[in-house]
Amino acid sequence: MYGYLGKILRVDLTAGRIWDEPINEEYARAFVGGSGLAARYICDVVDGETDPLGPENPLVFMTGPLVGTAMPSAGRCSVCALSPLTRIWGEANTGGFFGPELRFAGYDGIIITGRAERPVWLSIVRGQAELHDAANLWGLDSYATQEQVREALDEPKARVACIGPAGENQAKMAAVMNDHGRAAGRTGMGAVMGSKNLKAIGVRGMAPVPLADPEGFKSVVREIIADLGEDMVAASLQLAGTACYVDMGLMYGDMPIRYYQQGEWEGASNLSGVLMVEQYQNKNTACYRCPIACGRETRALRYGVEKVDGPEYETLAALGSLTMVDDLEAVIYAGHLCNLHGLDTISTGVTIALASEMFERGILTPADTGGLEIRYGDVQALHRLIEMMARREGFGNVLAEGSVALAERFGVPELAVTVNRLEVPMHDPRAFVGMAVAYALSPRGACHLQGDMYGVDTGQGPPIELGIVPGDRFEATEEKGRIAARQQAWRNLYNALILCHFQNPGVERLLAALNGVTGWGLEADGLMTLGKRIVTLKRLLNLRRGITRADDRLPDLLLKPLDSGGTEGTVPEVETLLAGAYAEYGWDPETGAPTRETLEELDLGFVADEFT
Ligand code: SF4
Repeated sequence: MYGYLGKILRVDLTAGRIWDEPINEEYARAFVGGSGLAARYICDVVDGETDPLGPENPLVFMTGPLVGTAMPSAGRCSVCALSPLTRIWGEANTGGFFGPELRFAGYDGIIITGRAERPVWLSIVRGQAELHDAANLWGLDSYATQEQVREALDEPKARVACIGPAGENQAKMAAVMNDHGRAAGRTGMGAVMGSKNLKAIGVRGMAPVPLADPEGFKSVVREIIADLGEDMVAASLQLAGTACYVDMGLMYGDMPIRYYQQGEWEGASNLSGVLMVEQYQNKNTACYRCPIACGRETRALRYGVEKVDGPEYETLAALGSLTMVDDLEAVIYAGHLCNLHGLDTISTGVTIALASEMFERGILTPADTGGLEIRYGDVQALHRLIEMMARREGFGNVLAEGSVALAERFGVPELAVTVNRLEVPMHDPRAFVGMAVAYALSPRGACHLQGDMYGVDTGQGPPIELGIVPGDRFEATEEKGRIAARQQAWRNLYNALILCHFQNPGVERLLAALNGVTGWGLEADGLMTLGKRIVTLKRLLNLRRGITRADDRLPDLLLKPLDSGGTEGTVPEVETLLAGAYAEYGWDPETGAPTRETLEELDLGFVADEFT
């Protein structure tokens, strides 16, 4: 089986049992890997009643056929489960080196069920897996945990995925951290890991990924790397990391300010990528075999920290412009605190910004917060709240439940800027209306990695051959909705391969690389079928979990026009866009459910009786 190691590690933490299982070839061929393949495995065992923090919720670490090969920017790993934050499908995707190393250790993925009686950690070294007591690791931050696991293994080159205090305390936006500050951030996968009493996974190995056509693959990889030299997006990412988008995001009105309610703010330009590089950057960093090297190592010396991983654009916006903090070093440090404690910077920033908004409106008072003033722009409060959320201390315990829980608790659910309970990331759908589809139909709740229409409409390498064509960013037509659905399917395929979204070599080269690795002989339309099949399976999982057509919507605050800035006076016509997207997917526009015909066309007939 080319492109796969052929083995999944199964771990039952309740029984303390570990065993190898051959990868299901039929599943792999139909759902590829990453979050696609994880969804197929999870679909077999969860239902509407499964508790995301219960032992029965499987936590899946899954790689894809390109991971650990010479394909540039494919050093990734998906972490998937039902989400405790959203209660529906949860997935997060991390870079670094953990994914490739898991394959070198001999496995395509790990499926973990049960709950250990006491904290444990898992080692997988050269095909041998073992559980260890984690009493000495419990309570450590994510950096110290990674270091200690490497020492315990006596493998300085081992790669470690772990949780920090936020995951241990099951904060609903807890991340799984790896390779220092890389994060599988969204949907609370760290809380699922914490609920299983699993502190860390250390991996090390040397097994090669078997390739169907090593020479053909090598040749297309050479072409992809050569072409990167001409890629302006890659050049900008190399120069200033994802922070290079700050100035552009502000110009388009895409970077949210003051809890998504303000169109312009002078202070936001203090968060620019160029300033970050000039004043705080130590060096740039790269994931496994990635020539783009968009990662940053910065410093926050005022806080005594010489090495900070990041910050990314999302972090700068969520902990900066959204909370009205324009002190770049303070934002860098806030990102560092999230890394240490293992928190998703997006959900953390949005929830703190919501608390600031509620405080300003008098909905929250010091009597509710244990005496804390939560004000926009208050750096000390921002830092303190991050730690309190991770440790569930005082009012942090309320914030650790996420934005919807906070807004509902105080009787203002309409203030939560979430879709399907996941906090909206730092791309405003008023700036690129196609993002309305990306968010409303995203399988994991509001997510910019499930259909980045801001990238399409700014011409950042969309696959035009597949009908994903840049257009007017404000034009809310059914055709735009169709394009957004195609882009969502395309990115779901990326999340299955798994390939970084910044690596866009074009359809022909991607096909050649995938066929060179797997020998599948796929053609271009086969790629789109794979993407749509994966999105539709995740949709079915969410329908099983109680999502309905009425949940395909944007939050109220994002449907109010702003009176200045790059989106002045505009809001997306969501229903028009959705009509196009349902038509593209073959989902019933009344119920939002895939039709039987669609399920059969996508070879999803095995679930047809449940949903039609
Ligand atoms: S572009 Fe950045 S995030 Fe993507 S693989 Fe390369 S270093 Fe990692």
